[in-house]
Amino acid sequence: MRLLFLGPPGAGKGTQAKRVAAHLEIPHIATGDMLRQAVADGTELGLKARSIMERGDLVPDDLVIAMLIDRVNREDATGGFILDGFPRTTAQAEALEERFGGAGLDAAVLIDVDPEEVVRRISGRRVCNNGHVFHIDDAPSGAGELCDQCGEPIYQREDDQAETVRNRLNVYRELTEPLISFYRERELTMHVIEGVGELDEITRLIMDALHS
Ligand code: AMP
Repeated sequence: MRLLFLGPPGAGKGTQAKRVAAHLEIPHIATGDMLRQAVADGTELGLKARSIMERGDLVPDDLVIAMLIDRVNREDATGGFILDGFPRTTAQAEALEERFGGAGLDAAVLIDVDPEEVVRRISGRRVCNNGHVFHIDDAPSGAGELCDQCGEPIYQREDDQAETVRNRLNVYRELTEPLISFYRERELTMHVIEGVGELDEITRLIMDALHS
């Protein structure tokens, strides 16, 4: 099954996409994670992406599309995958159509959250370098300033600071939200899930919707 998780930054897409991917035993493909890895590794792509990501703008389509197509062509993705953070523009969605035919996907899950809640969530988010995610109020680390899962320091992502969050929300509204109509026009099944409440309950709602 080829699935897309869509929604504003801070909706909990990444967290839910990871959980659902584990349930369905398909890879979770998050372009944001891949780009952060490229930055950490200092690759050519990472060097190009770094300042763009820090501002909360989008990395150019051609770079992200090449990276994503490479990833979905790998062996482990032949049985399907969950896309998280891609496509973010119409050009990216078209690249997916070209690669797989049709809409390129079997279904989308749209996680809906109020913009004010988004700012609260993102500005309180803390991460470690191994991808574990915390929230200063909702899910603090049990080890204070260290990750309680791997012991690495936890910190605020550069692009999670308030100013950048506002820019990311604007970018979402302008460039990514139009994908909802794009996929509705193509009659892709779209499950709209309210992204507020207990994580387990939201995962259950998504799993039920996908099995319906
Ligand atoms: P995320 O972790 O999905 O919030 O992504 C973090 C940042 O990576 C975004 O703010 C963009 O700068 C960049 N990024 C991730 N995915 C894409 C994409 N599909 N197209 C362009 N830029 C992206």
